[in-house]
Parts: sequence; C-alpha cells; structure tokens
Amino acid sequence: MSLRVLTGRVVLPEGILPEGAVVASEGVIRWVGPKAQLAQAYPEAATVEPDPLPPGEEACWYLAPGFVDLHVHGGAGADFMDATEEAWSTVLQVHLRHGTTSCCPTTTAAASEQIEAALECCRRWVESRRPHEPQGELGPWARVLGLHLYGPYFHPEARGCHPKQPICRPDPRQYQKWLQRWGPWIRIASVAPELPGAELFARACRAQGIRVHLGHSMATFHQVAAALDWGAEHVDHLFCAMSDKTKLRPSQPWPMRGGVLEAALYFDQLSTEVIADGRHLAPELLKLAWKLKGPDRLALVTDCNRALEMPPGRYMFGPQEGGEPFVHQHGVGITLDGKSLASSASGMDHMVRTFWAQTDVPLWQVVQMASLVPARMIGWDDRIGSLEVGKWADVLLLDAHLEVHRVYLGGEVVYDRALSLCGQEQAKGAKLDP
Ligand SMILES: [Zn+2]
Repeated sequence: MSLRVLTGRVVLPEGILPEGAVVASEGVIRWVGPKAQLAQAYPEAATVEPDPLPPGEEACWYLAPGFVDLHVHGGAGADFMDATEEAWSTVLQVHLRHGTTSCCPTTTAAASEQIEAALECCRRWVESRRPHEPQGELGPWARVLGLHLYGPYFHPEARGCHPKQPICRPDPRQYQKWLQRWGPWIRIASVAPELPGAELFARACRAQGIRVHLGHSMATFHQVAAALDWGAEHVDHLFCAMSDKTKLRPSQPWPMRGGVLEAALYFDQLSTEVIADGRHLAPELLKLAWKLKGPDRLALVTDCNRALEMPPGRYMFGPQEGGEPFVHQHGVGITLDGKSLASSASGMDHMVRTFWAQTDVPLWQVVQMASLVPARMIGWDDRIGSLEVGKWADVLLLDAHLEVHRVYLGGEVVYDRALSLCGQEQAKGAKLDP
C-alpha cells in the first residue's frame, strides 16, 4: 500500500491547522493532523518523503478540500449543452484547474432533443469513467456527480439569459421520459414552483431521489411555502432571476407581498447559493446572504458559462444551436442589450477569493461553502467535501493568494500548474521549430 504525504496549512471543517499533514493511500485519506505528530500517530508515513512543494518563494501553502460546484454550465469555449465527449472533457478540465474536483454539469433551457443529448452524455461519461469511485478512471477532469436538470421549466419573465423559445411549463410526457431513461444520472432538478404542473414534476423527481431546487421564478412567498411541502430544498442563485416585493407589486399594489427572495431568506429549511464573482452581487448582498443563511445553508456556485479563460467577445449561453448569445466583457457574461448579467465567466477559486476578500468570513468557512456545504446538500459528504479520515483524497494545493497550484483526485496528481506551464512552453517551442 503506497502512501502519499501532503504538508501545508490544512483547511479543516473547524478551522485551519497551521503546520499539518494529510496522509492518503488507495484514494482515501488515512490520517490528518499536526505534522509534528505524524511519526507517532502514523509511523508508516513518517518514513515517506512528503510531496515536494512547487518551486518559488511562496512561504505559505494551503491544503484544501477539492471544490464542489452544483451549478456550472461551461468553460474554455465549451458548454455541457454541446453534448459531445470533447466538450464535456474541455469543461471538466478547465474547472479542475480552478479547483473544482466534483460538479453537477448543468443544462440550460433548450429543445427536448438537446437536453436528452446532454443527459445521454452524462450517462456515458459516468459509466465509462467511474467518477463515483475514489480512484475510478482518474484523469484531468472534475468528477461528475450527476446532472443538474436546469430548465426548461422556468417563468418566462425570470428567464435571465436562457433563450425564450424553449421555456415552458412542466410536461409529464416530456419529463417522464427523462426520468425513466436517465433518472439515475440526474442529481438535481430546478423548477419555477408557480408553473402549472410544477408540483407533479417536483414530486416525480423526489420519488427518484432527485433534489428539487427553485429558480428562475416569479412565485409569491406563499407559492414557495407550498413548494416546501413537495420537497423543494433549495433556491438557485440568490438575488438573481427571482421575484421579490418590488417585482410582484405591479400585479397587486397592496398589501405588498414577498416573493422567492424573501421566502429564501425566511425559511430556515431552504438552502441557497450565491455567485460570488464580484460582478453579480455587491459585498453587502454576500454579507446579507451569509448573515441569514450561513454557514450551513449557503453554498458558492460558479454558474459559469463557456467564456471562462476565453477572450472578451460574443459567445453562446447553452447550445450553439438555439442558445442565447451574450457578450463576455469585464469578467462576466452580459446580455446583448447590456442591461443584465448572463452568468459568470469565473472558476470556483475566484469565487472563494472574492467572497473572502469582500466579507469578514474566515477563510476556512468560505472554503467550506465551496466544498463541504454543497457536498452535504447532495448527500455526498460521506465521501467528499472535507479533509477527513475515510473521505476521498481530493485535495487542492493553494498558495497564499488562493491560486490553485496542484490538484489531487483520489490521492493522485491530476493537475500541476508548474508542469502544465512548462508543457505550454514546450508546445510553443514545438510550433516555432517545425
Ligand atoms: Zn440561472
């Protein structure tokens, strides 16, 4: 049994261990504790040379649990809705470089066949690569935990950057087919609860163990309250694409009513998420979300589109055919009319850095919002989400600025920034010298 020993400031669920060590073997974490106690607590590991730290002057290295992203659409030019193995590989690789070791690929409002193609892609990916085993066929890809079925059952007025045409109310003929054929590969389904048929859809999902989220909705407070009885557990991207007292007022001037926003903040049993890219939400909204929903019911998500690591310009949200065009500018997606945002263009490392910089929440709790909290939300916290004995050794090596330098999946290095930079240099050299 070969052991791997990692050292650094270990980000734990209860704080940061300044000089710590993590021991892994066969994909699983075997021991975590102060480095000084390693020899006594785990004599076998004391003779193993710890993994070398990257070259350079950096004095402080963090070992953090791999990030878990429940809401992510694309990156590096590709979108999960492109529904090809190549596109999935591209998106899962680029997010891995930004620290995401597990995710739920998220669909967009699109034609039935396009959503089915994404579902089928998910099934093939999971069956062939076995990301649900600590050391399945590990490559430079974030693990796929299951699909996040996102739309088309949204309210047209809250569609955000999703194309208008495919948005519809839940149709049992459509979703029964999806649930029957691909149910085991769907982890989360989002729906606007005020739509006729939303309750039946939510109950059909719950019956298959699929978590129900509420999003892109103009529901009233009472409609959200009713959805709690159907098993809804979570509200997508708090503050974005949702009703509130002001948006509901045109349909009833008085008394003023609460909407999805007020209900998300009010009901303790509802968890939620924020897009902390520094573009979607000002710091006071991050602080408000933390004050009312943190630390156990607030996750960070990227909601990232295909423009991550791509130059500014025009891109498509969702599938190239029938998706919604947007502009990638100022580090975010912007709708063509320039009036609203069209999802983020950032990885999870950026979200963690931004939330940490813009609030006074301690680093270990911010990391937890990007790891243990989302893992627990989808019932995977017995395997991933924190650096604890018995969990999979999905570990990030971060510098003092929280830049990702190395990613371990199941205890194996699947990304090393120094090596990949020198790989790029070699590739450039090869081009220059035919
Ligand atoms: Zn959305």
